[in-house]
Amino acid sequence: MLDLPTRQPAGYRLKTRLHFIIAFLGLLLMVGAALALVAMEMAARDDAALDRAARGTIHLERVNGLVYAVVMESRGIYMSADWHAAEPFAKNLVRQLGELQEVAQAWKADAIGSQQSNIDELAARIDQFVRFRTELVRLGREESTAAARVFGDNDANRSVRTALNESLHAVAHAYELEIGRARSQVEADQRNLLAILLTLAVLGALGLCGGLIFIKTGLLRPVLRMKDAMLRLAQGDLDLELAGSPRAAEIAEMVQAVAVFQTNLVERHKLNRETRLLADLNEWLQSCNSLGELYQMVAEFLGRLLPACGGSLYIYANSRDMLESARAWNGANMTAGMHPEDCWGLRRGRPYTYGENEIGFLCAHVDRSVSREYCCIPILAHGETIGLLHLEFGREDGSNGAQRGKEVIAEQRRLGLICAEQISLAIANVKLRDELRDQSIRDALTGLYNRRYMMETCSREFSRAARAGQQVSVLSLDIDHFKKYNDNHGHDAGDIVLRAVGSCLESLFRNEDVPCRFGGEEFVVLLPGADAADAARRAEQLRSRVEALVVRYLEKSLPTITVSIGVAGFPENGDYPEAVLKAADEALYRAKEGGRNRVELSRAPTADPETPTAHPVAMRRALAASFYAPAEEPQDSPAPLRETAAQGVAAD
Ligand code: GH3
Ligand code: MG
Ligand code: MG
Repeated sequence: MLDLPTRQPAGYRLKTRLHFIIAFLGLLLMVGAALALVAMEMAARDDAALDRAARGTIHLERVNGLVYAVVMESRGIYMSADWHAAEPFAKNLVRQLGELQEVAQAWKADAIGSQQSNIDELAARIDQFVRFRTELVRLGREESTAAARVFGDNDANRSVRTALNESLHAVAHAYELEIGRARSQVEADQRNLLAILLTLAVLGALGLCGGLIFIKTGLLRPVLRMKDAMLRLAQGDLDLELAGSPRAAEIAEMVQAVAVFQTNLVERHKLNRETRLLADLNEWLQSCNSLGELYQMVAEFLGRLLPACGGSLYIYANSRDMLESARAWNGANMTAGMHPEDCWGLRRGRPYTYGENEIGFLCAHVDRSVSREYCCIPILAHGETIGLLHLEFGREDGSNGAQRGKEVIAEQRRLGLICAEQISLAIANVKLRDELRDQSIRDALTGLYNRRYMMETCSREFSRAARAGQQVSVLSLDIDHFKKYNDNHGHDAGDIVLRAVGSCLESLFRNEDVPCRFGGEEFVVLLPGADAADAARRAEQLRSRVEALVVRYLEKSLPTITVSIGVAGFPENGDYPEAVLKAADEALYRAKEGGRNRVELSRAPTADPETPTAHPVAMRRALAASFYAPAEEPQDSPAPLRETAAQGVAAD
């Protein structure tokens, strides 16, 4: 399900825009049609005006022609000698007078409004003219053509004729003007129509251009941009920027949807990277051999996993009253050590985020000048707090806005908690492994190294000394009459004596020396770099220190403890650990034989110059019972030298 933003895009919806364009073009069409109707109406009106003017002209021509014909027919009557000759003219004249009256009537009925009075006057003149000519015909018929001529030639008749002519001239002139007006009107109408049509064409063109621009910029371009963005997203390019906000609401919604896809992809990408880094961290942490290595890895991984976050790791000191700084990364401030009381996370026993709530208190181990939000996550292992992971939050580039900043910090905190859990497990593992290793190389009773470790170290130290041209001395030490402690005071007292001698060894020798419990009440100390004289001196010191020991058991002091010590050295007494140990043992037996509580130096190399190759085998055989599990030893092998010697000493 897409997590689309609820914000509505500001622009109109695409449908509305398309409807608007269609409505605009439709309106243009309707206006065009209406204009066409108006134009037709105007043309019809103009045609009618011209038609009426033309018809008036026709009437005028007709009236002129008839008046002329009547005048001609009248002259025919005048020229005729008698009625008989004049009768055809008279007939024509009467017919023409009738036609003249018809034309006058028809014209009156069809006259243009503005010419109505002129036409009425012309009709009155025509009536007058008809009356006079009718009288002329009557005179010609009833009296004589001469009488008719006389009547036609009188002033009254002439004035009627003149009045008619004047009226005709006036009407002709008026009609000329009327025709001119009608023509001007037609031209004006045509011009107006053209202007309106041009306006319509421009508006239509603008509408089309607007539509095209909208389709190109508002539709086509954003859609193509969307397509490019989606293709780039599909190809894994998550850095693209969805530029601009399209005006059409649907496209804006598409942009928002693609932005959500992009955000989701970026989130998933980030999550994958984090998961991979966390899995890597886990794997690496599990393969750490030491705590130092582990702290180094934690710093490396957290530095990369949370690049905007500074961090530091503190681990409880063995004393448990302080935490020591283990590592810091990404420029975080770190104090060399801190008290558990200095941290609110440790005091409250759970992760503490400073800046998360309105009220928060700065931990005392944090620099007062730090204004960043931070988180202190206690690290627990096997139910015990073993350290502290301190993360100083940072804002990633581009994480503007309070809300986004909070989300980023919450994310960093979440990762920090996961890491702290992994670190806890890893530290617990390494500690467990250390303990197991300790158990495998240390003696449980005294805490000294065991025989196996000593033998390995012995080989290593001999090789190193051989390369460096140095010496390694070996002290072989046995508690005198130890059996008596067990017999007289019990095994617990014997164990206490063993522990006391062990701590004496631990405290007397240097760090690079290796004291170990060889078995039973026998101890061996390796002294790398020490020659025979040094070793003898140290052995004597040890002897006197042990002799001075006061061991108390059940409220009373045990008898004085003494030890016998044999000293041998590499390379004087042998090239192999076994040879040198045997030499030290021999010296020890001599010390026992010499009365115990003493130090004896090995006298000479144990290697037999005549049978050099037999030496290691003989040595192994001799030492097998005490050093190694004698798996390959034959059952009938001779008893080990030390046992024989011990029996010998016991026999004393
Ligand atoms: P010597 O002076 O000749 O060395 O005499 P010794 O009594 O010390 O020597 P011996 O070998 O006869 O006795 C060693 C004794 O140490 C025998 C054994 O019971 C005792 N022993 C060995 N390991 C332990 C241990 O872990 N605890 C206790 N309490 N006794 C042990
Ligand atoms: Mg012994
Ligand atoms: Mg002993």
